[in-house]
Amino acid sequence: MATSAVTPTAPAATAAPISLRELAPWALFTGVLMLVLLYFVGVEQGATALFEGENVHEWLHDGRHLLGFPCH
Ligand SMILES: [Zn+2]
Repeated sequence: MATSAVTPTAPAATAAPISLRELAPWALFTGVLMLVLLYFVGVEQGATALFEGENVHEWLHDGRHLLGFPCH
């Protein structure tokens, strides 16, 4: 007769909760990064352009159309 050789294991360690104080700088950083990305995809063109020429606009042109920003 075969017997099970399973030994009881310790319960999995639970992850410590992340406090809002630890999370806030990362949330702020991510928010600023997303706003910069949104600016370059959606607004970097013409009078609001930070960079001369059309290079940045052309690099992000497909993303602009994908997200439905007005372009041309
Ligand atoms: Zn376009």
